[in-house]
Amino acid sequence: MTTIDPATPCDLCSLPVGIKPFSLTTAEKTILFCCEGCKGIYQMLHQINETPAPSQDN
Ligand SMILES: [Zn+2]
Repeated sequence: MTTIDPATPCDLCSLPVGIKPFSLTTAEKTILFCCEGCKGIYQMLHQINETPAPSQDN
């Protein structure tokens, strides 16, 4: 099992993510955020699609 350290810094604002972090799983790694807002901003900045859908029309 994966235990997340509550003191892990948010990837956007560097505040501790706490006991219920917002995680964003990319193809490369899992990123942790302190709040939904930070996660959303990070996604926007880096144009990350969570759980990319392979069946998406192209
Ligand atoms: Zn944050």
